[in-house]
Amino acid sequence: MSHTAEIQGIVEQVYKKYRNHDEGEVATYIPELAKANPDHFGICMFTVDGHMFRCGDWDQEFTIQSICKPFAFQMALEEHGRDHTLAHVGVEPSGDAFNSIELDPRTLRPFNPMINAGAIAVASLIKKSPVEAGIQAFVEKMKLAAGRNLTIDEDVLASESLTGNRNRAIAYLMLNFGIIDDAVDHSLQQYFAQCSLRVNCSDLAMMAATLANMGTNPFTNTRVFDFQYVKDVLTVMFTCGLYDHAGEWAYRVGLPAKSGVGGGIIAVVNRQVGIAVYSPRLDAKGNSVRGILACKELAAQLGLHAFEFSNVGSSFMQSLL
Ligand code: GLN
Repeated sequence: MSHTAEIQGIVEQVYKKYRNHDEGEVATYIPELAKANPDHFGICMFTVDGHMFRCGDWDQEFTIQSICKPFAFQMALEEHGRDHTLAHVGVEPSGDAFNSIELDPRTLRPFNPMINAGAIAVASLIKKSPVEAGIQAFVEKMKLAAGRNLTIDEDVLASESLTGNRNRAIAYLMLNFGIIDDAVDHSLQQYFAQCSLRVNCSDLAMMAATLANMGTNPFTNTRVFDFQYVKDVLTVMFTCGLYDHAGEWAYRVGLPAKSGVGGGIIAVVNRQVGIAVYSPRLDAKGNSVRGILACKELAAQLGLHAFEFSNVGSSFMQSLL
């Protein structure tokens, strides 16, 4: 059996192992998200040298939600550089929930760009006038990362905007401390629209593979992200990507990652692989239950943990050579 068939076999095995695992609840605080089919489950992996592995509902569409955050942070760094961006958002894990209404008491900045406060500060940095121009710039960048056409889910956007008062509270707190300017609604619209981008598991894996490949989409060969900032993004994903589960994740899975309440989760094996899992049942922290289980299992079986002692170029990659 070829190595690629063997890896496809492992992906299918992981899928089968968790297919009937039904712990967790679909998000309902954004009413439109409650319509997701809780049974959907897809896994997808792309390597930087063009191998593709997918299984289950990999083509089922859902909204990206918080997985927009690392990509928006990348865009802020590209547009404003490190000093200006970091004047508005820190890189410290908060240890608190993604939607916590708080700033770092020492710096009065949001803790990091992976929680809502930090992501709204980042959205404020990359917004444009008119509002549609900033949203379009984000969508265009994400299309390049996914290598296909993507659109905003207008129903989710309306639903999130209607019920997003907690995010409004966070934004006004930041206005009070001078972290964002007074175009509060504009920044929130940018943020809500980013979260409402429709993707499937395959798109997310391609985006993750683009990060793994230092900013160049490995399938289209388009340079999407400025490589000098990809390491900033991966670092913050590593330390803060799963909110108050980030330490446990780094310990057990050992990969930079990001989850979203739509049920998606991405993980990046630096210079090697992009991984995505979709399963909308979430745990109490807002992370996909089967997403975490599947990533844990893939990392263990393929030797993907960043500090795996045999990871001299992971055993996964070596098996493809
Ligand atoms: N749009 C969601 C929110 O702001 C994103 C949260 C998430 O995916 N964790 O609440």
